[in-house]
Amino acid sequence: MASTDQLTFQDPTKRFPVISPPKQDQPEPGLDADLVPQTDRGEESYRGTGRLEGRKALITGADSGIGAAVAIAFAREGADVALNYLPAEEEDARKICELIEEAGRKAVALPGDLAAEGFPEQLVHDAARELGGLDALVNNAGKQIAVQSLEELSADQWETTFEVNIHAMFRITKTALEYLPAGATIVNSTSIQAYKPSEDLIDYAATKAAINNFTKGIAQQLAQRGIRVNAVAPGPIWTPLQVSDGQPKEALPEFGKNTPLGRAGQPTELAPAYVFLTSAESSYVLGETLNVNGGTPSP
Ligand code: NAD
Ligand code: MG
Repeated sequence: MASTDQLTFQDPTKRFPVISPPKQDQPEPGLDADLVPQTDRGEESYRGTGRLEGRKALITGADSGIGAAVAIAFAREGADVALNYLPAEEEDARKICELIEEAGRKAVALPGDLAAEGFPEQLVHDAARELGGLDALVNNAGKQIAVQSLEELSADQWETTFEVNIHAMFRITKTALEYLPAGATIVNSTSIQAYKPSEDLIDYAATKAAINNFTKGIAQQLAQRGIRVNAVAPGPIWTPLQVSDGQPKEALPEFGKNTPLGRAGQPTELAPAYVFLTSAESSYVLGETLNVNGGTPSP
């Protein structure tokens, strides 16, 4: 989609077109391969500048959307990457693994369900073994299903959303502490929903508020160990999350148009925020939530 790289001087209103996605539906978790229009994950445009040379990263939800853009960027910045995703997302994950390998880095595919008992812990052990250590963690996987009323919101959905979005983050982070050396980083994907909850995303928004709070608390606890923890809070980004019931269908054509920038974000526009918070250049940045949302005022 984009022909210029992320470092080229350009007008942010025009870097990507204003999209009006047609109404569409995919079963959860949704595939980038089937998304209309396709997204930009930086496949053609992201230019590495050596900021993560030799790093060993585990990224959840790395097959598609924001996680895929982060995985591509990390590899081009010099990191080896272990990717977690659901088995149903193998097609998307293959593509990202190929791009990581084209960048000359190692890609370790570790599919599995973060809501399954024992899997989050196993994932970390497998990633550290395959990468020969672990010094960067990106907790990015997320579940978002829009439901109109509390009566329609099942206890099962409530629990699974918490399981995937925040319980797995706790389990992965706790296990990762067995491996993370001083200098290591953790970046958690939160959301503008943490402060501006949509009325149809009650469970999801509550997990995102929990992620913000967890990030700021644990950042203080791990500071003296030299491990920095931060979060990125995306606004409306065009990804498969939105068409697998993440938004009501009728809302899709207008997705992202109510931001000051006037358009939805593309996944690759998130990658530099994760690179910055993972790179040693952000050494004095801890417990921060970096908003990447097209200009909507946020705390
Ligand atoms: P996405 O669908 O591309 O990525 C979400 C990923 O979560 C999926 O690819 C899947 O691999 C993973 N996932 C979901 N359930 C899982 C499970 N049970 N086990 C393992 N993995 C599971 O969508 P995205 O928009 O790139 O989402 C990435 C993160 O960004 C999420 O945490 C999301 O909440 C957050 N976010 C997205 C937006 C947006 O507008 N797209 C806005 C704010 C925050
Ligand atoms: Mg996916």
